[in-house]
Amino acid sequence: VAQAEGRGTTRLFRPEMHRQVQDRQHREGELRHAVEQQQFELFYQPLLHAGAGHLAGFEALLRWRHPERGHVPPAEFIPLAEETALIRPLGAWVLEQACREAARWPGSLKVAVNLSPVQFVQGELLDGVRHALDASGLDAARLELEITESVLLRNSDETLLLLRQMQALGVQISMDDFGTGYSSLSYLRSFPFNKIKIDRAFVRTLADGKGSLEIIRAAVGLGRALNMKVLAEGVETPAELATLRAEGCDEVQGFLFSRPVPSAEAWRLIARDQNGRAPWRRNDALQ
Ligand code: C2E
Ligand code: MG
Ligand code: MG
Ligand code: MG
Repeated sequence: VAQAEGRGTTRLFRPEMHRQVQDRQHREGELRHAVEQQQFELFYQPLLHAGAGHLAGFEALLRWRHPERGHVPPAEFIPLAEETALIRPLGAWVLEQACREAARWPGSLKVAVNLSPVQFVQGELLDGVRHALDASGLDAARLELEITESVLLRNSDETLLLLRQMQALGVQISMDDFGTGYSSLSYLRSFPFNKIKIDRAFVRTLADGKGSLEIIRAAVGLGRALNMKVLAEGVETPAELATLRAEGCDEVQGFLFSRPVPSAEAWRLIARDQNGRAPWRRNDALQ
């Protein structure tokens, strides 16, 4: 198009495109370096039993410990890590690290790990999960793998096989961000998820009276009928929590209880949960 408009126009566009390519190459190089140098850290966010109000486990959430920019959230680097397939070695590290940490936690506390669609590579993913379990000694039943609907859109036969193989190892499979994807509900018939995590979008809009309550109610009904646990994400207020408990959600997660915290802080939360002094114990609705 620029060509058709004459040489002058072409020259005008070039420096900008050049800058974009350079910027992208720079970011990719920086990310590659970060993976090699292991500039990453897992934060942990509590998952609570809605009924009893005690700790069920934690979701592991990735942070990039950037030398200049501090802790960089996943939204700023996971897309690039996926485009470059760097998410494969990075995801393997996440699995190993999360399992190693959880193996040291007391009791039956679980750890939930997010998987990218790009990690669904025959052989590699199953080996990675097996390796993470073997190396850490973590009981497979304490590992939950979170996938989104987008995973099922890609090559779903192979994906379903992989999910079944991982479930056969004894790990739990959760459907993350439930209700936000574009795929049809029929995947719930082809694969027995152990848990669905209702997306924060529905919790956040509960008070609007525009259908979120009905969607959550339907999700809980589906969960009951299909024998899946139901967790609600993004709980920020006591009013939201009260509604979610009344609707029968099994588990809850959100800033009301705790933000994602570094490992040492997670350990303090575990201790406080055990001696009845955790923040969620002080919360009226979770007594
Ligand atoms: P997700 O798996 O749905 O994780 C929940 C996100 O919601 C986390 O953001 C968490 O901090 C945030 N959150 C939890 N409770 C609340 C709340 O009450 N209010 C609000 N406003 N936010 C809340 P985070 O840590 O930035 O992660 C964003 C996404 O990045 C995750 O969404 C997940 O899709 C992806 N992600 C994180 N870690 C990994 C990883 O190790 N591997 C892969 N592939 N993806 C990851
Ligand atoms: Mg998740
Ligand atoms: Mg989620
Ligand atoms: Mg989400």
